[in-house]
Amino acid sequence: MTATGVLVIGGLFSCAKRDEESSPAPKKLLSIPTEMITMRVRVGKIRKKEGFRLDDDHVLLTNKGWKLSSSRAFTPETKDQELWIHNKDTHTLITPEKIKRCTGKISLHPRRDISPHAFDIVVHVPMEKYVPGVIAGELYSHWHPNTFAAQAVAARSYATAQHLQRKATSHFDVSDGPSSQVFLGDVTLDVAHRAVNDTKGVLLTWNNTVVPSYYSACCGGMAAAASDAISGSHLHEIPPLHGRSGKDVCTSLGVHQWTVKRSYKNFTKRLVQWSGGRTNHPLHQLGSIESIIPIQANKHGRPIKLEIIDRKNIKHKISAKQLVHAANQSYPTIPKPSPKLKSSCLVASRTGSDLELRGVGMGHGVGLCQYGAQVLAGQNMSWESILEWYYPEVSIASVL
Ligand SMILES: [Zn+2]
Repeated sequence: MTATGVLVIGGLFSCAKRDEESSPAPKKLLSIPTEMITMRVRVGKIRKKEGFRLDDDHVLLTNKGWKLSSSRAFTPETKDQELWIHNKDTHTLITPEKIKRCTGKISLHPRRDISPHAFDIVVHVPMEKYVPGVIAGELYSHWHPNTFAAQAVAARSYATAQHLQRKATSHFDVSDGPSSQVFLGDVTLDVAHRAVNDTKGVLLTWNNTVVPSYYSACCGGMAAAASDAISGSHLHEIPPLHGRSGKDVCTSLGVHQWTVKRSYKNFTKRLVQWSGGRTNHPLHQLGSIESIIPIQANKHGRPIKLEIIDRKNIKHKISAKQLVHAANQSYPTIPKPSPKLKSSCLVASRTGSDLELRGVGMGHGVGLCQYGAQVLAGQNMSWESILEWYYPEVSIASVL
């Protein structure tokens, strides 16, 4: 329940029954799970008639459904249009895009909404086996054990929140790339396994609910709020996701600053294309870009709204999140957006045929800052204190 929701419902409590009935129900936060979660991780997207391999067995698509061309090592079972492959041992999963070692069940989910040959490959991994494969992919292997432990708890809480939100509506909870969090599959990295063991079953909670604990590579010194940088979901209206106050320690590392040069003509074209030709869109009549400046910041000083000024000195307003999204979009008619913008904390000005963008931070800037956590761990800060630094008012609870 959000703080606002509590106040609104509390204020209406003594009103007539009719008012109470017509009031919107308070939006619920995520209840703490009472049993171990098995994560459903989408590790592959098959979109053509190509199939994939599991060790020596080729999985093929037929017109009647999915089948294994050879099932010596696996026991397939069809359930609700999905093909399930039960496997107790580790297997090597080979798709046209990647090779991954995984343990656990695999389900093949038909995607007839895309094509008769399309399906998603989903591995089902118990949470404590899932998290090492995440943190080994999210951090450098030589980083401090306390950074790994803090990251383990953030990754577990994020995954739990995703599972709780999607379990009734989707066939997978997370994908295995940076749009969710990286998952390498089975890993042997010692520091990752120790971090998961040392924090077994520990979640970030607030008011006895699970915190969807977003994190990013580097906040650039100024925290973002999830409601600005992720979405307007009511789940983001909680203090741990409003951003920590004050300047973050990641600024002691040169890595937090970046400069990117892009063709101003292509940058302008991309933004216009992104606006989709909608006449009511703020970028519909954007001319050649001269500069971009922040015009509104959150309480920590991080820009949330930017102004794009074009050659005719017309000013176009856009949210900082949308600008990065638009600037990094690929379109067939425009050269690839390279290098990509690393964060929305930026200013830009035109120099010759280039638009020079200068920014700080990498990623959305909500919650734990990985580079900052590494600085704090180097100062011997405990993983619990690192999490309390990045998620204000959070509780650290061992729930399983
Ligand atoms: Zn930071």
